[in-house]
Amino acid sequence: MKTDVWGSVQDRLRDDLGADAYKNWIEPLVFEGFEANIARFKAPTGFLGNWVSRNYSDKIQMLFSEHGADVARVEFATGVAKKAATQTSTAAKAPKVAEPVVQSRATGSPELPGAPLDARFTFDAFVVGKPNELAHAAARRVAEGGPVTFNPLFLYGGVGLGKTHLMHAIAWEARNRNPDARVLYLSAEQFMYRFVQALRFKDTMSFKELFRSVDILMVDDVQFIAGKDSTQDEFFHTFNALVDQNKQIVISADRAPGEIDGLEERIKSRLQWGLVVDLHPTDYELRLGILQTKAESQAQHYPEVSIASGVLEFLAHRISTNVRVLEGALTRLYAFASLVGREVTLDVAQECLADILRATDRKVTIDEIIRKVADHYNIRMTDILSPKRARAVARPRQVGMFLAKTLTSKSLPEIGRRFGGRDHTTVIHAVKKIEELRAVDSQIAEDVEMLRRMLEA
Ligand code: ADP
Ligand code: MG
Repeated sequence: MKTDVWGSVQDRLRDDLGADAYKNWIEPLVFEGFEANIARFKAPTGFLGNWVSRNYSDKIQMLFSEHGADVARVEFATGVAKKAATQTSTAAKAPKVAEPVVQSRATGSPELPGAPLDARFTFDAFVVGKPNELAHAAARRVAEGGPVTFNPLFLYGGVGLGKTHLMHAIAWEARNRNPDARVLYLSAEQFMYRFVQALRFKDTMSFKELFRSVDILMVDDVQFIAGKDSTQDEFFHTFNALVDQNKQIVISADRAPGEIDGLEERIKSRLQWGLVVDLHPTDYELRLGILQTKAESQAQHYPEVSIASGVLEFLAHRISTNVRVLEGALTRLYAFASLVGREVTLDVAQECLADILRATDRKVTIDEIIRKVADHYNIRMTDILSPKRARAVARPRQVGMFLAKTLTSKSLPEIGRRFGGRDHTTVIHAVKKIEELRAVDSQIAEDVEMLRRMLEA
């Protein structure tokens, strides 16, 4: 039963940390059980144990308590490693993730509980394009130090567009410029967890001191604290105290401040005092630039792999959702090509990435279908939705229904409803009709093919 708890905690860790970090840091641990209030682990090396302890013990402790096992501490001893085999690979991969951003300095100031910084997330590795140039410029400005001109810097945008990357880049750069700067980067979730711990152990004073002693505070994914009232309250006070001292704050969220439901009004308005910049969805050029940059760095690891021309363009065109997915696709391609020792052609790429390509296939909507069909036949959208039965309208309507059936996953009744409140039998009839006509009427076949290509483009 006890190991079951660890099993559930492991599942959560895998989800939250991502497969790589999980494999590097969590998998090599052996859970020994609970002793009094302590959860004990064996780690294959002291390095690994220390690292996990420094970076993930809060998280592990929190997850234990979420699963009904309240522990006061998590401890890692160095032990025999059942899994000694993974040791070398773990150590080899370790440099991927760097030390936590701030160590306590010898000044007696409290240690800052920063989240680990990803060594790859630097300004050098950030590709700038139209959609992110403002966010990038603002982040640079913050990292350069100097007088605080906008406070906070609020970065927002959809998932995988580079918010976390930019924040880590600020931390690296600020630390390079001034090794004494106290830069604290953490997620809003970690902020909350720290605060809740402080409340529980009646230690809010040192919590406050700690957060008020930094030069740059960066809180990632702040939408997380929406609806969590006492955490918001504390966040607000920390925020104000730092602004009063002219200390820089950087916040990220998946939405603009005003759009975060459950966030107190005073916080929303305070967040809007500074500079609010959004990271726009990537465009084709930016995606291609990112792919080229990442391909260069992959090429250093896999010098034997060659990528046929047109493959990167194909990926930039087809995978438009998020940069993380784009990167994952490229990494997989290199790993695959290096294993099987083949050149990555367009065919290989399509085969190797079939699942990703399917998932990112553009979703065609019924509205688009109606609009495109109306355009194509030079009739009005309202004609398609109207009860009119004249051939000039009825045929395009049937083509539209046929396309809706074949290009979307909508049900027949739903399609009928969307085409002017028609019955599902009408849709069945339309689909049959167009199928028949396509075989004998080359004009219809061509119309359907052309519309399909336009809709799927
Ligand atoms: P977010 O925090 O906005 O969800 P991340 O910062 O975690 O997104 O970025 C997701 C992945 O995409 C990261 O590996 C990051 O390095 C990469 N990435 C995003 N934007 C860029 C960019 N402009 N240049 C290079 N890499 C990028
Ligand atoms: Mg992020």
